[in-house]
Amino acid sequence: MTDKITVGGVSVDTRHWIGGERVASTDTFTDVSPIDGSTIGEISRGTATEAAAAVTAAKAAFPAWAATSRTERARILHAIADGVEKRLEELAIVETTDNGALLRSHRRGVMPRVAHNFRFFADWLLKLDHEDFETRGHTNHVSWDPAGPCVLITPWNAPLMLATWKVAPALAAGNTVVLKPAEWSPLTASLLADIAAEAGLPAGVLNVVQGYGSEIGDALTSHPDVRRISFTGSVPTARRITESAAANLTPLSLELGGKSPLLVFADADLDLAVDLAVEQYDNAGQVCLAATRFLVEESVAEEFTRRFVERASGLKQGDPRDEATDIGPTIHPRQLEKIDGFVQRAVAAGARAVIGGHREGSQYYAPTLLTGVAQDSEIVQEEVFGPVLTLQTFPTEEEAVRLANDTRFGLAATVATGDPERAERVTAQLVAGTVWVNCFFIRDLRAPFGGARQSGVGREGGNWSFDFYCDVKNTVTAPKGWQDHG
Ligand code: NAD
Repeated sequence: MTDKITVGGVSVDTRHWIGGERVASTDTFTDVSPIDGSTIGEISRGTATEAAAAVTAAKAAFPAWAATSRTERARILHAIADGVEKRLEELAIVETTDNGALLRSHRRGVMPRVAHNFRFFADWLLKLDHEDFETRGHTNHVSWDPAGPCVLITPWNAPLMLATWKVAPALAAGNTVVLKPAEWSPLTASLLADIAAEAGLPAGVLNVVQGYGSEIGDALTSHPDVRRISFTGSVPTARRITESAAANLTPLSLELGGKSPLLVFADADLDLAVDLAVEQYDNAGQVCLAATRFLVEESVAEEFTRRFVERASGLKQGDPRDEATDIGPTIHPRQLEKIDGFVQRAVAAGARAVIGGHREGSQYYAPTLLTGVAQDSEIVQEEVFGPVLTLQTFPTEEEAVRLANDTRFGLAATVATGDPERAERVTAQLVAGTVWVNCFFIRDLRAPFGGARQSGVGREGGNWSFDFYCDVKNTVTAPKGWQDHG
């Protein structure tokens, strides 16, 4: 095994990053590019041994980092953001090679957001406060104390974006971190370790371990020295992690899957509704927030479908490094298999593929729209995590809300309507962590983010992040001269 591989001209270390040093495992796993199925390289494959070493390093580094002033912590986070911006092009090409998402999105949207994650939480830390208040002359003072080592576990669909969404607030709060990226896209986490070290983050404050969740996961999540676990991924893994964390009652933040609806009312601007609908193929449908269930009012369903098919048929699928490409590959042949299984079972149960419904070679799935699907069918109830959308119609607003809320998820919902009163009525009834009206994917780090029902536990963003990553403490001090009053 080589310690370093070259990916799109960028050198990436394949070893773990523990206590400020590169550490190799004897065993490796093969990282494959979804673009063409080619091997990118052999990556150190961590087990309980590396998990324990990383938590030990994070524990050792914690007291000094927790005692570092807020201004110094914020300065280092800004320096990490500078490093991300300096290496933006490198991060973009490595991420695209590793997870197949569009290079143009990584360049213009995702990697600038990664830098922003660090800047935002650095700045928020400096403003983080709580007004003191009095109780019968006693002063209450609330402080945001660092909690300790945090384990952060992330998925492959937006690897560095989702990782830094956790790493930045955890570090800002004064915690130390063990980050475990997904085994299908581990590379940019390794580059982040380099960038953080160059920015002056002390050894052991950020540790990165790689490997399969089934081999390294339990050792991380059941470790008694871990004070927080933040996980983004699927519901079955979340259950497993919850069980593992139960031994120590380690607080958890869970950002999970979804089956979000797009409600299109007859009074909507239909062109806008179609724009919002076509956006759901972004990242080849591998987006937790995707509105994969179109719910369209009966009277406009035919026209909506006609315009949608016209627009979707013009999307270009292919190499994500090509600027002209709209839809890239699926992360892994196993995922492709899973997606096709969902579609073929739906078709066997009576669904009709208006577009797509089949693979395009061994790495790509054709953008698909299915009609004739029953509300209680698998394709309507389960997350596919691929470019597969369903369309159902509704006769009344009441029925639209009923269908929208009728899954076990509650991550997001999008409403297209030209009637502000309807928007208010409908959004009030939707069960979702985020609701967009006549827009999609607007995400501000000041806002709470998370899911209702089985889409998650807890909220992140702004104070919500610090609420999770800190041991919030209230100190009550008696008035001066309290001894005189007994
Ligand atoms: P996954 O649950 O299979 O894996 C996520 C991570 O968990 C990986 O790093 C994996 O190695 C690790 N893992 C697996 N088993 C583990 C164990 N026993 N202990 C500890 N860690 C373990 O999910 P995925 O397929 O990588 O990601 C897709 C899922 O993520 C979808 O359901 C999607 O909706 C969800 N997601 C949610 C959000 C959100 O913000 N709500 C964002 C992106 C993705």
